[in-house]
Amino acid sequence: MDIHALQQIVHQTRDARRKQTLPKLSPADRDQLIHKYHPDFRASAFRPIRFGPNVGDKTAIELATLLEGDSSIVDGFDLTPHYTTDVLVVGGGGAGCAAALHAHGAGAKVMLATKLRLGDSNSVMAQGGMQISVAPEDSPVTHFVDTLKGGHMQNDHQLLKVMVEEGPSIAKWLLSLGVLFDRDGDGNLHVKKGGGSSKPRLLTCSDYTGLEIMRVLKDEVLNQKIQLLEFCAAVELTSDEKGNCTGAIFKDLDNQRHVVVAAKSVILATGGIGRLHIQGFPTSNHYGATGDGLCLSYRLGAKLMHVDTFQYHPSGAVYPEQLIGALVTEGIRSEGGHLVNAKGERFVNELDTRDVVSASIIRECEEGRGIRTMSGRIGVWLDTPLLDAASGPCNRSCCLRL
Ligand SMILES: Cc1cc2nc3c(=O)[nH]c(=O)nc-3n(C[C@H](O)[C@H](O)[C@H](O)COP(=O)(O)OP(=O)(O)OC[C@H]3O[C@@H](n4cnc5c(N)ncnc54)[C@H](O)[C@@H]3O)c2cc1C
Repeated sequence: MDIHALQQIVHQTRDARRKQTLPKLSPADRDQLIHKYHPDFRASAFRPIRFGPNVGDKTAIELATLLEGDSSIVDGFDLTPHYTTDVLVVGGGGAGCAAALHAHGAGAKVMLATKLRLGDSNSVMAQGGMQISVAPEDSPVTHFVDTLKGGHMQNDHQLLKVMVEEGPSIAKWLLSLGVLFDRDGDGNLHVKKGGGSSKPRLLTCSDYTGLEIMRVLKDEVLNQKIQLLEFCAAVELTSDEKGNCTGAIFKDLDNQRHVVVAAKSVILATGGIGRLHIQGFPTSNHYGATGDGLCLSYRLGAKLMHVDTFQYHPSGAVYPEQLIGALVTEGIRSEGGHLVNAKGERFVNELDTRDVVSASIIRECEEGRGIRTMSGRIGVWLDTPLLDAASGPCNRSCCLRL
């Protein structure tokens, strides 16, 4: 269909769509949808891992190949440490900086080593916000239940409990360090509704939440004079005769030399695997997100969890070509953006869980209700002008445009 004809349809159907309330899917409908359309269920994209702690477990071909890769460290490598520390943190994103600061605060000697510059990470790109139950009508229990549902009850309950219970104290800690979370007119923290949640609990810093959090965390790491190794990629973990981790070997990307660090504890905070481009999907992940931590710990004997499931963010740009894969934050849908097919119809509750929204978009595209871009790709329309209509004169998004 001609893009201008489609714009007409989008315009003509807008008022009717605004009055529509689409229910979230029941568990049975959700299961049926994702089994048919979610990329996790494309059998040909998965294969069993051939050896190691997860032998026989099916995972994405790209990850299986990575885990089975050879070490670049050869026999006879000189393991004499260049540095010795109490806590070695590998990774300079939000998790790494927070871990380093907490260990330092507890009195440990800490070294933070990271592949690129300190802060060059996915954390710095997070836009939509951070889910923490701080609103009076919310609670860690509600957060727990929402997250459990979103995770199809497969979540590690203990980890989840820690996350929801400690979230509010982490928000307080970030505030105390100087993170400028958005506030309402009375000065209270402002929370927005995110996908898959029953209560508003997204703490935001406009649409650059990660950048603001990392501004402060990076400053604090520097301020506390935590020892840094930048442009050093961990290429192997070292271990003692019992198999306990004793440190890591890094490759200095500036001079290609190896650096050995011995540590009493090693914290891996190397982030995700977006840059493996599983099933050829585009990504907005930073270039360091290549699953290194998974591979390093696997070689040391750690069994990986949930290797059969990956998160696909539902909304990324499909046109123009130079923006392919650029993230369109969930915040747009949370503020009232509509996902619209070629018939001008909404086809999913935009704030359903990400697996449901992604699978629904793929269904529309595969069943011929997608929209062909001028460069020949298929996508759906994200109708945003109604954000303007929904915004009152004092709405924050209005102020941003001034
Ligand atoms: C565009 C975008 C928007 C997002 N928006 C949101 C959002 O609104 N809300 C939300 O909750 N989440 C969001 N996310 C996800 C969120 O950013 C991540 O889940 C989170 O930041 C992960 O933090 P991390 O510290 O574990 O990993 P990262 O922030 O990716 O940090 C990993 C660090 O490890 C380093 N590293 C990797 N390999 C090695 C190695 N071998 N040796 C040494 N260092 C290594 C990297 O260079 C990097 O510094 C978004 C992600 C992206 C990409």
